[in-house]
Amino acid sequence: MDDHIVHHDLTKKLRFCTTLPSLPTVALKIIDLANDPNADIGLACQYISLDPALSAKILKIANSPLYKSRRVATNIRQAVSILGTHTVIVVALSFTLATSLMKAPTGQYATVFDNKAFWLRSIASSLACRALGEKLGLKNLDDLFLAGLLQDIGILAYSTIMPKEYGPVYSSTTDHDILLKTEREVLGAGHDELGYALLKQWHIPDYIAISCISSHGQPEPKELEPTLQACVAVSRYLADYFLNPKETGKISILTKAAQSWLNLDSTTLTEVIDIMESGLSSVEDLFDTTIHEATEITGILTEAKELLMIQSLAKVKELEEKSQRDGLTGAHNRAYFDDKLQREFLLSKRNNIPLTIAMIDLDHFKNVNDTYGHVVGDSILVAVVCAIFGQIRQDDTLSRYGGEEFTLILPGTTLVNSRNLISRLKDNIAAIAHKLEDNSYVNVTTSIGVATYMDGATNFQEPKDMIIAADAALYAAKNAGRNKIVEWNVSLQS
Ligand code: GH3
Ligand code: MG
Ligand code: MG
Repeated sequence: MDDHIVHHDLTKKLRFCTTLPSLPTVALKIIDLANDPNADIGLACQYISLDPALSAKILKIANSPLYKSRRVATNIRQAVSILGTHTVIVVALSFTLATSLMKAPTGQYATVFDNKAFWLRSIASSLACRALGEKLGLKNLDDLFLAGLLQDIGILAYSTIMPKEYGPVYSSTTDHDILLKTEREVLGAGHDELGYALLKQWHIPDYIAISCISSHGQPEPKELEPTLQACVAVSRYLADYFLNPKETGKISILTKAAQSWLNLDSTTLTEVIDIMESGLSSVEDLFDTTIHEATEITGILTEAKELLMIQSLAKVKELEEKSQRDGLTGAHNRAYFDDKLQREFLLSKRNNIPLTIAMIDLDHFKNVNDTYGHVVGDSILVAVVCAIFGQIRQDDTLSRYGGEEFTLILPGTTLVNSRNLISRLKDNIAAIAHKLEDNSYVNVTTSIGVATYMDGATNFQEPKDMIIAADAALYAAKNAGRNKIVEWNVSLQS
């Protein structure tokens, strides 16, 4: 992790900082236990009992809905047997760290740095992180809880060791990712690295400390199993949204993070919010804090979930638009063509821009099917579309108009300018040689009808007139013996 160590100066400042609250003895003892894979239950109980407030918390937590246990713990020993040693240690650590650090800071930076807001966000993140883990079936939910809680501890460290320099950086943005970038630019290190350094200094177990850094990196594209750091990363966006569900700008940031880190959709996110809601009062209890007023919580979160669902519906619509393609060939479908032609026609009419369309119909295609079968016919249709796609430009639109009939929209193209392309298309399609099992080849030819809208030259009033014209030209090409291109002219008007 050498490349993640903040520069010497900062680490030194951190080490000798006197304003950073020192951890209580109980916390230090519990950290020792957390680092010991063979931690002794008796010892854990003994330390926890030293701190009456902590004992009460552990008991409350053991009996809370967070740990769906039917047994009731009335003393620490029972709590430990319900929760397990590891959980007790990690929960105790979360509590002692937070309560000793939560004490409002004094000094000049107190006005810039909102300690209460920082901890509310941290606590909401830990709740979110645990809920994500629960929904995704991860083990050791309490590790997730602690990692979520501590992920941004570097912000606290910065505000404490260099309040003057950090103040302006911190208040320059409300966007977490921009904050991190600014810290790196202005101060030489992000709060991710500083947080890691601090947690190492406190001897917090490495797998927790490291998530401070890895959760601030980039999501692994091929991560199949959800990881601790991915949950931590998503938890901060989820917390931001959970705390301020009315800030609709936070929804898309959240759904994007959930998608890229954990491949979660909006429906699953609303279920995670449900889990957060049911654990909220236990967590508020643990930290003696209020995230949402009990009387308002249901309304707030119902609205939050509704907004999320609306967002996901918008996504579905976007997908539908994307699927305006023909399933077999990948060309656009008829509906898309109609819509697109409408728009291009209007644009041309309004701005005196030429517009050319072509109707492309395969010749005697019924024979191809009847002779070689539909499977061969289908492959040829795909090959035809490939050949056309290979020739047209980005803003040209190829659509499958019907069975073996295709349309082409060429915006900004005059009849003269279309000739080269259209004749190349015809040749390329004729050059397709579909190989059969007996090593013989099947070829197809096409007939093409072309119509151009151009101010003064044609009198098309609406898009439909252009389709009728191109169709008439196509019909003429068929009549003239097929494998031909015919351009519409007034004499074709029936
Ligand atoms: P023409 O030269 O007059 O256009 O003759 P044609 O046989 O191509 O025209 P017709 O309209 O009589 O027949 C079109 C044929 O295209 C009918 C059908 O067998 C075939 N076809 C339409 N859609 C598909 C498809 O999706 N896959 C396959 N394999 N064939 C299709
Ligand atoms: Mg045909
Ligand atoms: Mg046809």
